[in-house]
Amino acid sequence: MNKFDSRRKFLKLSTFSTAIFSLTKIFAQKTPSLVKPIVVSTWRNTDANAAAWNILSAAGRSLDAVEQGARVPEANPKDTSVGYGGLPDREGVVTLDACIMDEKSNCGSVAFVQGFKHPVSIARLVMEKTPHVMLVGKGAEQFALSQGFKKENLLTKESEKAWKEWLKKSEYKPYHNPGQHDTIGILALDSNGNLSGACTTSGMAYKMHGRVGDSPIIGAGLYVDGEVGAATATGVGEEMIRIAGSHTIVELMRNGRSPQEACEEAIKRLISKRGEEKAKELSVAFLALNKNGEVGAYSTNNVFEYTISSPDQLHQVIKSKSYYN
Ligand code: ASP
Repeated sequence: MNKFDSRRKFLKLSTFSTAIFSLTKIFAQKTPSLVKPIVVSTWRNTDANAAAWNILSAAGRSLDAVEQGARVPEANPKDTSVGYGGLPDREGVVTLDACIMDEKSNCGSVAFVQGFKHPVSIARLVMEKTPHVMLVGKGAEQFALSQGFKKENLLTKESEKAWKEWLKKSEYKPYHNPGQHDTIGILALDSNGNLSGACTTSGMAYKMHGRVGDSPIIGAGLYVDGEVGAATATGVGEEMIRIAGSHTIVELMRNGRSPQEACEEAIKRLISKRGEEKAKELSVAFLALNKNGEVGAYSTNNVFEYTISSPDQLHQVIKSKSYYN
């Protein structure tokens, strides 16, 4: 082959490679992602799911979706277990807990925060702008102010009235009172296959001043492992902390359990630790989502429901299976 032939061959080959490269590029842009996005949240949280879905359905990031979803009940004064309008502790003070976690195990958390409506967004900034995972109380509030969050009164007239009514007997019965603890835990898988989760609450109504539950504790109220799945919890937080509930569920999924099997095993473990007698009165529920978009949910008693949004089931409320009926 003379010099000119080989030059011609080279030119042909490079034109061919350029064409292949451009085709691959066009194909990559036009081919829809194989991952179907999905978001699930604890309880009847259709508005929260809708906010998260707006982001997921536009090929947005699951981390943004869970944050925006969690902000919906945080801002709703009628939701008495999250954010603004949350029922106070026994001294009449609304104290909030929240956390957030992404697919790379980045996480942020705040606890015992007073006077800020959106603890989930403060938690996200703890994750993104500090060397820490968790800030509590005054320190968290100081950080929130430094990030431009505004301090406001979160105790609504209705919640104050309910607290004053409670004061008459001052009986703390956290064990089976679903109406008084409806934390939102929200898990999402985006079209890039990335998982994230968030959890936000005003905690158990009429708790002791300073009490923090599972919701801001990474591994108890929320856990995400981008390679495996995510889990979140609602109910009497002390119980989830005892078995590191959400982390337990993710580890069970890592070892081959489906999200449903993992939630059931965690609830059974919790019940066996507490004994049937006490467990009967406990209100605890887990919700899980794996990397393939499969969902599981299980609770102690039969009051738990969750909300799912995916291309096949848009903002549907589903009754969870439970150990006791
Ligand atoms: N888990 C929350 C807590 O213990 C309460 C709830 O889910 O209702 O603070």
